[in-house]
Amino acid sequence: MRVYADNAATTKMSRTAIDAMLPYLETHYGNPSSLYSIGQEAAEALLAARETVAGCLGCEPREITFTSGGSEADNQAIMTAAAIGARNGKKHIISTAFEHHAVLHTLNKLARQGYDITLLDVHENGIVTPEQVAEAIREDTCLVTIMYANNEIGSIQPIPEIGKVCREKGVLFHTDAVQAAGHLAIDVKAQNIDMLSLSGHKFHGPKGVGALYCRKGIPLTNLIEGGAQERGKRAGTENVAGIVSMAAALKEACDNLDETAPRVAAMRDRLIDGLLQIPHSVLNGDRTSRLPGNVNICFEGIEGESLLLMLDDEGVCASSGSACTSGSLDPSHVLLAIGRPHEIAHGSLRLSLCDTNTDEEIDHILEVVPKVVTHLRGFSPVWRDLESGKREHLI
Ligand SMILES: *Cc1c(COP(=O)(O)O)cnc(C)c1O
Repeated sequence: MRVYADNAATTKMSRTAIDAMLPYLETHYGNPSSLYSIGQEAAEALLAARETVAGCLGCEPREITFTSGGSEADNQAIMTAAAIGARNGKKHIISTAFEHHAVLHTLNKLARQGYDITLLDVHENGIVTPEQVAEAIREDTCLVTIMYANNEIGSIQPIPEIGKVCREKGVLFHTDAVQAAGHLAIDVKAQNIDMLSLSGHKFHGPKGVGALYCRKGIPLTNLIEGGAQERGKRAGTENVAGIVSMAAALKEACDNLDETAPRVAAMRDRLIDGLLQIPHSVLNGDRTSRLPGNVNICFEGIEGESLLLMLDDEGVCASSGSACTSGSLDPSHVLLAIGRPHEIAHGSLRLSLCDTNTDEEIDHILEVVPKVVTHLRGFSPVWRDLESGKREHLI
């Protein structure tokens, strides 16, 4: 049996998303900026896709800009708020220590340009409170950027409440909702969000396409100069097929959410309960305020990388953290941010489920992981020290 349980890294495209894309590769391949009919068919498809995405987020179509993915949307949102801030003499930005690197590295760049960055501490459950945000806001704060749900530990942030604090203090609020879009109900107006990033390939759409919601009246900064596409805010001939497909995938995911989310969450909970039976294991991220598909557990005395390789042999595709850090031996910055010691953070396993996973697959994972953990502990000098009492158990 092969089980794909790394849906936080990317998802398989849905049939709907593939079918939506094909006509724009085969027949309506015109440039949407051209005046003849095959160009206009593409332009109309873009219009419809913008309406669809806006409908899923509760905003107006003109508040949506299509991008090359979540990373670009994050970069554009942050650079936009930074530029507005600089014009008003405000160069302080608030974020958290457990953001995606698309946010953290953009903030590092701004720090080198003289911006003052405050990274809020994250509680052990992986949640930042509105009170922390309120306390950190200063006269010169131009942006608060806090992710909607964490990609490694799945914790969902109190977004409407954080947005409310920002509104009251007159500070722009951006959220990286790449893990949330298509998985949780989003309403940018009701949730006090000024800017929001999403990415097609995290909800069964294609890779290399995403969107940025930016509340009207906020002047977007261009990252890419050139033609007047996307109302002059993002140059380059539009990825028509990708955009149409992403919109179809988002609509499908949002339409089915009431049915899929509880079903996925039930598989998640069975997985969490089963894996926590393994001695000296701990759940990362909040138990209830959690993405329906996210399981993240640390096992003491083993290396996450060895665990992943052995799980691959057993047919289970999983991750030890984010795809971006795998390949490096540094422990996850997210696990360190919630206070896990290095030696614990190294033994992490992330399983991220989606609506196409099955109960049989959960059974398979529950059979394989305890076996592999026991096997690896059998070879581990650290585990031997822990068991003989030479070293103290941390969990
Ligand atoms: C995947 C991901 C991104 C990056 O999106 P891409 O479309 O791959 O650029 C950004 N933020 C979060 C939270 C993600 O999970």
